[in-house]
Amino acid sequence: MEKSIDVLIVGGGLVGLTLVNALRGSRLSVRLIDSQSSPQLSARTESSRQGHNLVAGASPRVSAINLASEALLKRLGAWPGAAAQQCAYTQMSVWDGRGTASIQFEADLAVADHLGTIIENDQLTLALFDRGLSVDEAQIDYDSAVETIERNDVGYRVTLLSGESISCKLLVGADGGASTVRELTHIKTLEWSYQQSALVTTIETQAPHQGVARQCFTPVGALAFLPLANPRHCSVVWSTATTEELLALDDDQLCQRLTQGSESVLGDVLAVDRRFSFPLRQRHALRYIQSGLALIGDAAHTIHPLAGQGANLGFADAQALAMVLQQCRFNGLQPGDMALLRSYEQTRRPANLLMAAVMEAIKRMFDSGDPGVNWLRNLGLSLLDQQSTLKGMVAKLAAGA
Ligand SMILES: Cc1cc2nc3c(=O)[nH]c(=O)nc-3n(C[C@H](O)[C@H](O)[C@H](O)COP(=O)(O)OP(=O)(O)OC[C@H]3O[C@@H](n4cnc5c(N)ncnc54)[C@H](O)[C@@H]3O)c2cc1C
Repeated sequence: MEKSIDVLIVGGGLVGLTLVNALRGSRLSVRLIDSQSSPQLSARTESSRQGHNLVAGASPRVSAINLASEALLKRLGAWPGAAAQQCAYTQMSVWDGRGTASIQFEADLAVADHLGTIIENDQLTLALFDRGLSVDEAQIDYDSAVETIERNDVGYRVTLLSGESISCKLLVGADGGASTVRELTHIKTLEWSYQQSALVTTIETQAPHQGVARQCFTPVGALAFLPLANPRHCSVVWSTATTEELLALDDDQLCQRLTQGSESVLGDVLAVDRRFSFPLRQRHALRYIQSGLALIGDAAHTIHPLAGQGANLGFADAQALAMVLQQCRFNGLQPGDMALLRSYEQTRRPANLLMAAVMEAIKRMFDSGDPGVNWLRNLGLSLLDQQSTLKGMVAKLAAGA
């Protein structure tokens, strides 16, 4: 028999789970489905793998969570407890590997005691999942993939691979960059490959990180050392066109390359854990909404990870959509109503496009080998570093203020 509900969220990653939590108290019937196994199971499997000269005990996928997202997650009661691997960073240091310019951002620029927190994606997902289980309005089901989507009188009918059919007034695509919901509802994107992949791993360094998030624009791409709970452990994100070559190196060779690439900023890189690679694409949906449908998170936009903003934009999407949905019962509107959805899109699309444009400009500026551009870039960074007002604005943008 077909079930009928108010809101069906496809995708239980960071962003879909945030929406579930933000719909607490909405009195809408909500269901979330995800094709993968539940976060509890995934976290257990991850921690049992070994095999490199570092077994950091941390999952390699981490995110820099900005202050706005941290405040949201705390408000939702979904901020991971103190036992989880997390490290608040109080400074960001960015420099140009082909020049002399560098820039430092301290927490007081954002009028805060820290600029953000590096946290394992698994821990965050688990905290959101655990908290989401207590949302009275919601049912959360993993191991459930979408097979077909079609319009019906109510909104959309979604059929799962299990054969189950769900009818909903609002269908939310929170199913990531390769969104099935976006594809099956024929929403087009503007997108291109960066011709780069991100190499992701965890390292041990000679010198302690002192709670500083570091990024060097090396000649082959942005190399970030993100501080972890262990003072000598950092998460690495190196976005390059040579990731395949780096993946093929043995641990000692990769340590050497990372030491060189980081200009020994933390002394030698002593050990390296498992490595992963993620192809990088710029992608933006031409619209986030249509009647009975909304896209949030990576399903609506993916950006280069060089400033660690993708998930932060997704949290803000989930919050904005929840705000309009929280009001619909009181205003006598249906969740799929276009006026409501337009208000969501108008809040989020300009902000997401601005961040995508800023990332694109930074990436192109640092990709250029042209000596004139290099000179201008170095001059620009040096000038920005001396301009506390402008620096404060950049720090606040990064903090999500
Ligand atoms: C290397 C790298 C580093 C990054 N670092 C940062 C950072 O420091 N800070 C930051 O803010 N962002 C960062 N990002 C971006 C961030 O990881 C993403 O923006 C964020 O994870 C997107 O979350 P999401 O929930 O929208 O999508 P996803 O995490 O992709 O989740 C989508 C979910 O949908 C499910 N799904 C997919 N298809 C279906 C289907 N057909 N049926 C049912 N379920 C389905 C999947 O199983 C998955 O659980 C980084 C990205 C990369 C690649």
